[in-house]
Amino acid sequence: MPIYEFHCNRCNKDFEMLLMGSDKPICPTCKTDDIYRLLSACGFLSKGEQGQTTRASAGQSSCSGCSATSCSSCGH
Ligand SMILES: [Zn+2]
Repeated sequence: MPIYEFHCNRCNKDFEMLLMGSDKPICPTCKTDDIYRLLSACGFLSKGEQGQTTRASAGQSSCSGCSATSCSSCGH
């Protein structure tokens, strides 16, 4: 059975909920349905990857084959 992670917009809490069929998830703390489903661990991983990509491209030269600022080392 799938367990999903949610974030409550009202009380800013994360919680996990087992969703069965057409159950409408609500926050167990404040009972609102003003919540959204969090991405799985993969989502957090890709966030990290995006950060790394940003850092990498900031230090990158026109050469896409290496991360060096000078292309003399890779022959491009
Ligand atoms: Zn809540």
